[in-house]
This record gives sequence, structure tokens and C-alpha cells, in this order.
Amino acid sequence: MGRIGHHRSPAPAAASPRVGVFGGTFDPIHLAHLRCVEEAREILGLDRILLIPAADPPHKRGRSITPARHRLAMLRAAVRGNPRFSVSTVEIERDGLSFTIDTLRQLAAGHPSWHLTLLMGVDAFAEIDTWKEHVALFDEVDIGVLSRPPGPVRNLRALAPVAVRGRFRYSSDRKSLIHSNGNRVHFLSVSALDISATDIRERVRRARSIRYLVLPAVERYIERERLYRAEAKPN
Ligand code: ATP
Repeated sequence: MGRIGHHRSPAPAAASPRVGVFGGTFDPIHLAHLRCVEEAREILGLDRILLIPAADPPHKRGRSITPARHRLAMLRAAVRGNPRFSVSTVEIERDGLSFTIDTLRQLAAGHPSWHLTLLMGVDAFAEIDTWKEHVALFDEVDIGVLSRPPGPVRNLRALAPVAVRGRFRYSSDRKSLIHSNGNRVHFLSVSALDISATDIRERVRRARSIRYLVLPAVERYIERERLYRAEAKPN
């Protein structure tokens, strides 16, 4: 168990909710995000999921990201009607680059009773050693790593950054790594949905259908705001 937002004593869920934190650019939010995180919620017995869109990068690096207000509006439309999912604007409201460790500490400070589990796809986890204070991240929270096509992950430990590997041992079922302080990195085998936001943007650009890749409300928003089109630059 971690030092951020954790209480070891058993408490009713309402008093100490187990909250999954799922960050991303969500440009746009798609069905794999929603389904995979719903499965993670079920497997880990989380009470709630917080979806956290990253802020607009102050200095655009590589591709330009759709303005936060659009990404946020699509997220809000996507979680409408699901009381277990909500959207947090902490990163959008904070200046500068969005660092996950800062977000987790901010959430923990604002909600000391929350037990936080950071959720991410295996592609994101494979790059976690490039994140700010990644060693502290492993010290401070539980992590749930979601499988993502093309394939299942066989060696979770080998994927963990070198700097933290020695601190973890496998659980007896080998489905998670246990930190010397009790924190866990869970490997979650979720439905393999080969959907990416990059592919969705590309389909819109080529005037192809994105039906059944995103929720209808998100599809309508993309259409109405003319996002991702070859000719248009939203602002
Ligand atoms: P892009 O194609 O623009 O890079 P993306 O589809 O990978 O976007 P992000 O917003 O970057 O979506 O991802 C947010 C989180 O969701 C990341 O942790 C990522 O690994 C995870 N994720 C995205 N798509 C899937 C998927 N199909 N299956 C499992 N996890 C996913």
C-alpha cells in the first residue's frame, strides 16, 4: 500500500474510496479507454475512476494536440450517466507540463482518505522511466497496468524500470509485483481492443467512419466541432 492517499485500516468504501486515476491526452476518448478501465475497476474493486486529460503542452512538441476544452467536452460527454466515472480538470487548471507525480500528490492532498491506484496502458508503462520522479511514483502509489494489443505482457518485472526492479518481488500468482513497502504493480489482462486515438484522427481526416470506435455523443461532438478534419484547425 502506498503513502499517497492510502489508509491501511479497513474502512467502509464510502469513507475511504478506492479511486483509479487514468490520465491521457484523450484526443479523443475512445471505447478502448472506457472498456479497459471499466474492466480494471472491476478486477481491482475500485469505487471510482477519475479520467484526467493532460493540459495543452505549452510548447508544442511533435504533433499538435486538440485544445483542452474540446478534449474535456468529449470526456464529459463520454462519462455522462456513469456515476462511477468522472473527469478531473486538475492538470488542465495547473500551469505548465502535466506531470503525473504532481497530479497524484495534489489529489492526495485534497482528498487524504482516497486510496489511489494509477492506471495506464502497457505502452505507457514501458516508458515510465522517462517520467518525472518515477522512482517516487512506485514508492507512493499502487499501479494497474492494462494490457494493450498487439499482445499480452509476459514478463512484468522486465518491463519495470531498472531503478525500481530490485525493490519488487512477484506475488505468488505472478499477476502482480509487490514493493518492499507493500505497494503493488498489478498486471491487468483486459479485453484486447486495438483502438487508438491516432487511428481515429486519421480516419476522420480521410472522411472515414468512426462509428463504434467512439461513443455516439463523442462522434457527434467531433462532427459538430469539425475536429480532426484535413482542412480545419480547431481553436
Ligand atoms: P494516441 O493514439 O493519440 O497516442 P491513445 O489511443 O494511445 O492516443 P492516450 O490518451 O494517449 O490514448 O492514452 C491514455 C491511456 O490509455 C494510456 O495509458 C494508454 O496506454 C491507454 N490506452 C489507450 N488505448 C488503449 C487500448 N486500446 N487498450 C488499452 N489501453 C489503452
